[in-house]
Amino acid sequence: MQPLKDQNALLSGIGTTIFTVMSALAMQHGAINLGQGFPDYDGPEDVIEAAAAALKDGRNQYPPLTGVPELRQAVATHNRRFYGLEVDPNAEVVVTSGATEAITACLMAVLNPGDECVLIEPLYDTYLPVVKLLGAVPKLVRLSPPDWALPRAELAAAFGPKTKAILFNTPMNPTGKVFTAAELAFIAELLQRHGAYAICDEVYEHLTFDGWKHIPLMTLPGMRERCMRVGSAGKTFSLTGWKVGYITCDRSLAPNVAKAHQNLTFTTAPNLQRGVAVGLMKEDAYFAGLSASLQAKRDRLAKGLAELGFGVLPAQGSYFITTDIRPLGFNGDDVAFCRALTEEAKVTAIPVTAFYASEGAPSHYARFAFCKGDAVLDEALARMRAWLARRRGEQLTAAAG
Ligand code: PMP
Ligand code: GLN
Repeated sequence: MQPLKDQNALLSGIGTTIFTVMSALAMQHGAINLGQGFPDYDGPEDVIEAAAAALKDGRNQYPPLTGVPELRQAVATHNRRFYGLEVDPNAEVVVTSGATEAITACLMAVLNPGDECVLIEPLYDTYLPVVKLLGAVPKLVRLSPPDWALPRAELAAAFGPKTKAILFNTPMNPTGKVFTAAELAFIAELLQRHGAYAICDEVYEHLTFDGWKHIPLMTLPGMRERCMRVGSAGKTFSLTGWKVGYITCDRSLAPNVAKAHQNLTFTTAPNLQRGVAVGLMKEDAYFAGLSASLQAKRDRLAKGLAELGFGVLPAQGSYFITTDIRPLGFNGDDVAFCRALTEEAKVTAIPVTAFYASEGAPSHYARFAFCKGDAVLDEALARMRAWLARRRGEQLTAAAG
């Protein structure tokens, strides 16, 4: 008998996602989890009610491949209402099981083995493995703190004759960056020059602060037919466990996106889709209230972290703030810091090196999620304050001894 052959080398070579690793560590140590980005409060009552009621009215078999009509219509209406995008709900929307699946489906729709795909570091954890699993070649371009501005020369240099697509995220996890109109115009120009597509991960589209507005690349001239715009009910309705995503793209792209989805999951739970349709039709005040509430949480956590001595980087959007841990005088990198914070302070954050794939990543940043109840944020700050004081006390004792 022959020994079993090797499994997929790429999957065997990568670890479990940092979010699961840190959440497990948080559980193990009874830590407040400001690591994995999920709210500790529920989404809107009417959205949940609609999904619950939808379970009871006999539409529990396979929904249509591209999504239930109510949700496709709601996605189209949402596109017109917020961005002035005219979208055909029957030919230009594909509903998926979360943005994670949506991003994979969009990559599958356009990439052939050997094609190059431009990615922007720091990057979300699924991007790189999926690009590689498809046999495509990632071209990484790195943003640098503290302002994470787009390095235009490097980006232009990453594009070439083999570039098929760019995949990027705005508002951006983990940096909190919102791409400016000028940056988007620069990307648009490169895409046109190279006949390339864009997969636009816009899951935090409604989570922008301080007057920053999210601009979908798809709204720029010449971008309508080449962008695949990805949204997530998880973020827009604080229901991350639902895993309902939606792709808006031109009718020329939608058939391939739908065929990718057909081979990944085929469909998504119909009652959740119907709940999300109710959500997307909610009044303007809901969307304004969501960003206002998260902005207040960002401010609460940012202020507290700054008082503790962290270097707090600006965040114009998303669920996250990035902090520079160097001013704390911690002896170790971001991974050691986040481990010690979890085990000793009983607060969990994510080491930002997890969002880098290439050599030479900065290793002194920790990401904190602020999508938590105010009392939880306050308690996390109190725990960190006590921990830092204990550490300073120990250092003084050691110095005196
Ligand atoms: N993209 C980014 C940047 C994210 O932060 C997340 C968070 N989960 C996702 C995609 C995936 O979204 P979903 O949970 O809808 O799959
Ligand atoms: N998007 C979430 C984050 O960045 C995590 C999602 C996940 O755990 N896969 O924290």
